[in-house]
Amino acid sequence: MSIELPIDIDQIKGFLAEDEGEALFNFAQQSAQLGPVLEVGSYCGKSTVYLGEACKGSPNVVYAVDHHRGSEEHQLGEEYHDPDLYDSSVELMDSFKAFRSTMRAAGLEDTVVPIVASSALASKGWNTPLGMVFIDGGHSEEAAQTDYRSWVSHIKPGGILAIHDIFPNPADGGQAPYNIWKLAKASGLFEELPMVNTLGLFRRK
Ligand code: SAH
Ligand code: MG
Repeated sequence: MSIELPIDIDQIKGFLAEDEGEALFNFAQQSAQLGPVLEVGSYCGKSTVYLGEACKGSPNVVYAVDHHRGSEEHQLGEEYHDPDLYDSSVELMDSFKAFRSTMRAAGLEDTVVPIVASSALASKGWNTPLGMVFIDGGHSEEAAQTDYRSWVSHIKPGGILAIHDIFPNPADGGQAPYNIWKLAKASGLFEELPMVNTLGLFRRK
């Protein structure tokens, strides 16, 4: 890998390929000159490490939005459930503790602002223009559409929109992220950038 990270990224639980992480790092480094980075869907902080490392030493921060209650596929009995991230006392997922320890281990506590709330709640009253938005939250149609509506309008001209889990072929994966990718493409607001693995990328005109 061409990027020096402060921790062994393979030790962090998560759902992000190395080439996708490197692309996040490179675009966040450019965007951090423009404004803060906001991610929806941090889980244990894998993507946040790439974004945060890119912003270290810049005037800008990373807002890491996640209710830490897991997506549909992380719930008890579902395909990607992780019993280590289940709080049986309240019968809910809780990835926040793991996220915090990742941020601490990576030395990112002065760069990353965790927002433990749903994307919709965090966006209420949001008024800060953003240099980059990375959408990797819930994969239901409603969750993806809400993420798109809530955050995309805050991206500054020249800023980046990144959307994870783009599968143009329905046989490869769920279509909700791809549907908002198509919305962004059809909006006329963005220049489309080359896709990196399943990471869709745009630059705001
Ligand atoms: N980016 C992570 C993976 C994110 S997994 C990585 O690099 O590994 C998806 C995350 O989105 C989960 O942690 C889940 O809790 C969160 N999520 C799902 N729906 C959400 C919503 N509506 N608001 C905030 N977070 C949400
Ligand atoms: Mg994802």
